[in-house]
Amino acid sequence: MADKVRLRIAPSPTGDPHVGTAYMALFNRAFAHHRGGKFVLRIEDTDQTRYNPSSVQEILDSLRWLGLLPDEGPGLGGDYGPYVQTERRDLYLKSAHELVERGHAYRCFCTRERLEALRQEQAARREPPRYDRHCRDLSGEEIASNLAESKPYTIRLKVPDEGHTTFRDLIRGDITFENKELQDPILLKSDGLPVYHLAVVVDDHYMEISHVVRAEEWISSTPLHVMLYRFFGWDVPLFAHMPLLRNSDRSKISKRKNNTSLKWYREQGYLPEAMINFLALMGWSMPDGSEIFGYADVEREFTFERVTTSGPVFDLVKLTSINGKYIRALSDDELFERLLPYLPEEMDKERARKVAPVLKDRLTRLGEFVELTGFFFGPVPQYPADLLVPKKGTPSDAARALEQVKGLLESLKQPWTHEDWESGMRVIADNLGLKAGDLFMILRVAVTGSKVSPPLYESMEILGRDEVLSRVDHALELARKAS
Ligand code: GLU
Repeated sequence: MADKVRLRIAPSPTGDPHVGTAYMALFNRAFAHHRGGKFVLRIEDTDQTRYNPSSVQEILDSLRWLGLLPDEGPGLGGDYGPYVQTERRDLYLKSAHELVERGHAYRCFCTRERLEALRQEQAARREPPRYDRHCRDLSGEEIASNLAESKPYTIRLKVPDEGHTTFRDLIRGDITFENKELQDPILLKSDGLPVYHLAVVVDDHYMEISHVVRAEEWISSTPLHVMLYRFFGWDVPLFAHMPLLRNSDRSKISKRKNNTSLKWYREQGYLPEAMINFLALMGWSMPDGSEIFGYADVEREFTFERVTTSGPVFDLVKLTSINGKYIRALSDDELFERLLPYLPEEMDKERARKVAPVLKDRLTRLGEFVELTGFFFGPVPQYPADLLVPKKGTPSDAARALEQVKGLLESLKQPWTHEDWESGMRVIADNLGLKAGDLFMILRVAVTGSKVSPPLYESMEILGRDEVLSRVDHALELARKAS
């Protein structure tokens, strides 16, 4: 085994960049970097039917956004390239034939029709589908004549009939599979493209990957991989299978029940550091039990011993709450800078800079800013007169209150102070026999058009005296009309 530490992720470019890719990138990168090693991105694109051309760039963009860029990979350079499997075909072809020559793999000339008929017979007998090894023992003459006729063939692994295959998993300990339970999988398709099992082993070997850290769903493939390493005469890397991220019903995380696209989280305004913190808590924990920590902490502290084997639930509520904590920890300037990409071009940025701190305590996602602050940037949204009416009150109560509030706001010395305003409001409430809370609510609706808003006084300060008074006038008119 090379003494270098080299880890990788090997996503398939089939759709939007997946949260599972970020999850694996986090731990692979942290483990490699803590040991002075390298973290590699390899693109497993041999399934051309599911290939999505923009996917590689999107994976890179998402990893960059999260601060998890690999050291080597497509577009990143490195001495072990190419890092895209379809650019490595010759290597797989050569490797597959090498195994045939060594007697560990064989050409399978079975036609699609034969395999389909076999599958149907097995289904009729209620047996699981399984290749019957028809071509495993073809004679030299049969093979030669098939080749002479240019019959297409796949190459299959010759899995030993007996014995077992064991590998050590750094999280789960020794895992053993009986060889007789395994099929002779196809390694190379008739079009010369490899299947996953062959490509992953060849690449991990030639890229000198020391630790294969991937999702739990690959455990059942690992005995085949271990066999391949042995048949090739190569060192077997170390394996660790991380728990699968799950939906709340404990099924494997899926688009239908959770957003799985990293693009979505970015668009919604989850902060990358909150994503990292949240993902790091999935199946792992800091030795000191802290809940809020950064990538550097993961890099320093991560060990496989602390990984749990039960599948962690991807809980959006928890992520959102962590995100809110990170937002509140930003300085006002940082918050504004981070908000900028989420603001429409035409928005008054100077005003947004003033609004941001007022919103800080309530924002759970940067993308919420626009919807929560519309009233700062345009006219008050339409609202029904009812919204102004206090509980057990009438529209004329609201009108009376608004008249007095208007008088107060006009009479307050400029610049307003919070104290003068608040004590003035309390006097009005007393005079009118209203609860102070009800009076503040009437003004809140008049100023923001809603019963929930950022802190009222700070909002009024940003809007300025004239704008506030014109909104109070508008509310007054509405309440009078309804009286
Ligand atoms: N291409 C596989 C995937 O999409 C890689 C599995 C592995 O890491 O070996 O997850």
